[in-house]
Amino acid sequence: MKKKTGKILLGSFVTAGLILALILLLGFSFFYIARKKTLDTLMEVSNQGVKLIRQEVDQNQTLLRNLAILMEQDETGDLDRLREKLIPVDRSNSFRRMGFVAEDKTSYSTDYGDLSFESEEMMERFRPGLEGKECVVDGLSDLALGDPVTIYQAPFVAGDGRRCTLFATYANRDYQDILSVSTFGGRGYSYIITDDGDCVIGSDHPSSLGAFDNLFEAMEQENGAGTHNMKALEKAMKNHESGYLEIRRKNGKRYVYFQPLEINNWYLLSIIPGSVIRRDAHVLLALSYVMTLLCAFLLMLLVKRIRSAEKKYWSSLESTALRDPVTGFASFGRFRVDAKDLLQNEKNGRYAMVCFNIQMFQFINELYGYQEGDRVLKAVGIALNAALGGGELMARINADRFAALMYYDGREEIRGRVMKIMADMEAGACKKEGGAEYEIKMTAGVYVIEDNREVLDKMVDRAKAAFTRENRGAFETCGFYDTEIRNRAVQNRERENHFETAIEQEEFAVYYQPKYDVKRKRFHGAEALVRWNFQKESMIPPGEFIPLFESNGMIVPLDEYVFRRACLKVKEWIGAGLPAGPVSVNISRVHLYQKNFAETYFRIIGETGVPASAISLELTETALFDNEGILNEALETFREHGVKILMDDFGSGYSSMQLLSSMPVDMLKLDKSMVDDSTENERTRAVLKSVINLAHSFGIEVTAEGVENGEQYRLLESMGIDYIQGYYCAKPMPEAEYERLIQKQKDGEWDNGK
Ligand code: C2E
Ligand code: CA
Ligand code: CA
Repeated sequence: MKKKTGKILLGSFVTAGLILALILLLGFSFFYIARKKTLDTLMEVSNQGVKLIRQEVDQNQTLLRNLAILMEQDETGDLDRLREKLIPVDRSNSFRRMGFVAEDKTSYSTDYGDLSFESEEMMERFRPGLEGKECVVDGLSDLALGDPVTIYQAPFVAGDGRRCTLFATYANRDYQDILSVSTFGGRGYSYIITDDGDCVIGSDHPSSLGAFDNLFEAMEQENGAGTHNMKALEKAMKNHESGYLEIRRKNGKRYVYFQPLEINNWYLLSIIPGSVIRRDAHVLLALSYVMTLLCAFLLMLLVKRIRSAEKKYWSSLESTALRDPVTGFASFGRFRVDAKDLLQNEKNGRYAMVCFNIQMFQFINELYGYQEGDRVLKAVGIALNAALGGGELMARINADRFAALMYYDGREEIRGRVMKIMADMEAGACKKEGGAEYEIKMTAGVYVIEDNREVLDKMVDRAKAAFTRENRGAFETCGFYDTEIRNRAVQNRERENHFETAIEQEEFAVYYQPKYDVKRKRFHGAEALVRWNFQKESMIPPGEFIPLFESNGMIVPLDEYVFRRACLKVKEWIGAGLPAGPVSVNISRVHLYQKNFAETYFRIIGETGVPASAISLELTETALFDNEGILNEALETFREHGVKILMDDFGSGYSSMQLLSSMPVDMLKLDKSMVDDSTENERTRAVLKSVINLAHSFGIEVTAEGVENGEQYRLLESMGIDYIQGYYCAKPMPEAEYERLIQKQKDGEWDNGK
């Protein structure tokens, strides 16, 4: 949980960081976009300004030049008269006044304010014109009003031969009017300065410097030396360059575009405060913030929807994964997790793993349907759950198996509890009202957990191993996993590993147990029974390895091996003229799940060359019962080829007379348990009698197995039994011994004492 919160926090921080970075990036890029755009506009505005100023100056100069030509054409030399002529021209122009100055320091102004030339400075103003140069003189103030002006001059020679200069005074404010075309919402302004920084035209814009004589000096005065970019500007102007410049002033940054006007050494400076760019960038940025927020909001909405859909999905998945669909209790997956948690926090030896199993459960499904099967499972689950206390757990493992983690308080105590639980389960699950009546029988296996850290599946496997028939004993319903089972498991592993070598080394031997023909009073055929001469040291009876090989599938090659050996031997005996057959060979039920089992057996018969009539197959009653549908076809094929089919162990399980009539079998073998019971139990005798009669009525011969004494023999004989197989007649014997027996019988040396 802690881990999860940490992860979520980290995720949020990373996301927040990313968003912040994105906003900063957007801010910067918008700032630069706005800056570039504004500076481009500033340059355009400056170009425009330069064009307008030049136009104005050109126009003025051209006018003066043309007037000067007219003046020269007047031959009278009467300058007063010329002045009269100039007055209407002046009126129709934007000059403050016009006039001319002669080299003899006489002046003729349209406003009749004659000039005094006492100071040298006055003469300086007009010197360029008097020296014959057309010019625009700047840096002057109006003699009458005192405001800054520029004076246009054009030279001419009067009719009397005096050199003169025509002049026109132009108020600098008029240039300002030309330049003050509103740009950047009135926030921009311009100066015209000389390349020395002297002011030609200042500005009264609130952001401007106000009136100044020299820009560099004024800036230095305002900001102190070095804080602005004036040196760079000075240098650029001296080099006759144009370009951008950022200037830091006390009240903020200024962006400047400077460009020569090509009039005298004039420069036009177009200026905007930094706030113009910032404001543009801010508008863009604000827009992008709104967009980002909107996107973030939509994203959050989307994430929320996905999250809730995901949550829904997981919770539904969880509930199906955590609950057993049949019993409604915890699933086995849940059980494993919970059991692990419980065991982790407990001392060793306090718990036992108990497994419960419903015997013959598959018959309930087959006979009564899956719905009924589910009802039984549920009832068993309810009984188990009710019997457990706090700190104990239960779940269905699979099919008809249940697991419980129970407190362990000694062997007898838990056995008592388990027996009681099984009784409750049986009572709860048995069929009560309606339908066929049947009983439920439970078995249980207990594994005392010695080490809580052991793998849980291993605990369950051991508890399961404890309830198998071989481990719990035939009459016990509750088994314990102990060292004996552990040793047996080890032994089984060893036997499995040795199997292939055992086949190669011919450790498996086939014994023959003769069958006695009751009516003809002689032996008639035998049953082939396998023995394992384990590592040629100890003889193991089949009961100890057949179940193992059935569980791991090794029974298939083993049965084929036994079958081939028997076929070869029988063929050999028949070849020698001995009455060996028919010999019956056991076939495990496992074969019936192999698709091509009939083919394999026919192939062996063909390969060994034994006559089919000398061989028969023994299949257990339950195998036949289980595979009714699949099997019929294969069995018919065997019978068509003369291989007889024998139903083994009849009466050991859920035998049914019905089955006898429907299955394609030639012989029936009564189980030893019925024979054992026959001498004591009247009812068994009645059943035996009717089974034998019924079989005969279907043309089926009957063998009785496990006959150990004369009493049993005579009873069965009186019931009309066909064959007897049992220790009373003969025990299973090695090949050579059986060979001797049939040899003797053939030779008439054998004396039957029955
Ligand atoms: P099964 O097919 O019912 O074989 C009869 C078993 O009863 C044999 O045990 C036999 O020795 C025993 N028996 C016969 N007469 C008497 C008697 O009078 N008293 C007593 N107490 N027992 C008697 P065995 O040979 O130990 O075989 C046990 C089981 O192993 C067989 O039961 C059969 O199911 C299985 N088996 C034996 N050989 C093979 C084989 O080659 N393949 C397969 N699949 N199973 C085999
Ligand atoms: Ca048999
Ligand atoms: Ca049998």
